[in-house]
Amino acid sequence: MLITFQNNILNWWKNNKRVFPWRETRDPYKILCSEILLQQTNAEKVVPVYNKIASDYPEPADLSKVETAELEKIIQPLGLLKRAERLKKIVAEITQKYNGIIPADEKALLKLPGVGNYTANAVMCFAFEKQVGVLDTNTIRILARVFDIKSDKARPRNDKNLQNELNEVIPSSESKIFNYALLDFAALICTAENPECRKCVISSICIYYGNKE
Ligand code: SF4
Repeated sequence: MLITFQNNILNWWKNNKRVFPWRETRDPYKILCSEILLQQTNAEKVVPVYNKIASDYPEPADLSKVETAELEKIIQPLGLLKRAERLKKIVAEITQKYNGIIPADEKALLKLPGVGNYTANAVMCFAFEKQVGVLDTNTIRILARVFDIKSDKARPRNDKNLQNELNEVIPSSESKIFNYALLDFAALICTAENPECRKCVISSICIYYGNKE
């Protein structure tokens, strides 16, 4: 079942991957910026804002010098302007404490202002290729539907058991690609409302689909 899940998702992704500029870089700073911008925001809308920040402020030290009001203006199309202040605080700390280098260390990332489990795991996986699942509402939904693995915690995103369960279904050596594949699969097929079960390449192993039919 697990092998079918992994192989079918990866095969599906080869022809259906979404292309985003933050997936083309290995720069941990740019990946961290993208994750802050992507919070509660449609990924397509983030592209121009991310491109501007990545080109105009290519290093944490550059971004730490910009006025918060200026950064708010750049982020304006995305809303949630508090992220400007959060980004400023993060790059200030990276510049002062880590000499401008994003630490390849989950505990250190979690100590940065406003960085939670999801963002720390995303940076560890997408920038540093750590074998870890990126647990968010999308991957939580897939775990629940396909494997009937659910959290009983008030905040499932911080549930360590659920995190471990997700880590178990991520193929070793392909965590980065597989996490991208899961995010795209959740966005395009296993959507929150009206999932495309008839087009789904893992419907034969999906518990939710089996119960529905
Ligand atoms: Fe999601 Fe439906 Fe596929 Fe199950 S069969 S993984 S619910 S799209």
